[in-house]
Amino acid sequence: MKSIIQKLVCFSLITICVSTFFSCKKDDDQDRSINIFTIEDDQLLGKQLSEEIAADPEMYPILDEQEYEKAYNHLYRIRDEILEADAIIYKDEFDWETKIIHNDTILNAFAGPAGYIYVYTGLIKFLESEDHFAGVLAHEIAHADRRHVTDQLTSNLGLEAILSILLGEEDPSTIAQIGTILASLKFTRTKEKEADEFSVKYLCNTEWNANGAGGFFQRLIDMGQAIGLPEFLSTHPNPDNRVEAINAQDSLLMCPQGGAFINRYEDFKNSLP
Ligand SMILES: [Zn+2]
Repeated sequence: MKSIIQKLVCFSLITICVSTFFSCKKDDDQDRSINIFTIEDDQLLGKQLSEEIAADPEMYPILDEQEYEKAYNHLYRIRDEILEADAIIYKDEFDWETKIIHNDTILNAFAGPAGYIYVYTGLIKFLESEDHFAGVLAHEIAHADRRHVTDQLTSNLGLEAILSILLGEEDPSTIAQIGTILASLKFTRTKEKEADEFSVKYLCNTEWNANGAGGFFQRLIDMGQAIGLPEFLSTHPNPDNRVEAINAQDSLLMCPQGGAFINRYEDFKNSLP
């Protein structure tokens, strides 16, 4: 727990800095808050989140891994290939536990700290090719690997609440809140942009088209559903701009042409309930 105490001291210093100088030194990226949590904190928080989600099967009906082994094999194959990317920082440190939530009405996925990632069956079924799914998964992996979640949770819940969770003194209602917050978490525009860019970076040297996440947005636009949907569909930046930015990143990195793997993706979809 020494690290927590150090963090409290650190937080006091930051607070002093804020109140004395109005603003502390920041990255050139204005959105980037100071993440005072260690990798171990991310791991702990991610684990607690996954326990919370597992304990609420009504809200989060996790697809049984044994019963739907084929679906999970597809998911893990795609995840593991993305995690081979050189740009991934915490491949070995994070758990990368990836689960499917059985709800066909939700077109979403979300990432908890330390690579606890949840994908709804509604999202998998909405997409038509594996490169698009890989793009969305890579986007979620970017949120976890770039540690956007602890940044964002801190500003959503307040640092004090997070610290009490890490110290194990949490008010049960606070930890219950985390699952709810994560499922509807809206990252800032800068974080979304970064996750989009990194999704291209991660996919660049894989077998898929690197702009897969853009294909997902394009399908939403085509389907006329680009409004009012959660997480990666957050209103800012709008889906059109995101498609453009993703394609621009693809050109910039000169990613080789990949495949869409439609038949293989169909097999993934057919293995779902
Ligand atoms: Zn996102």
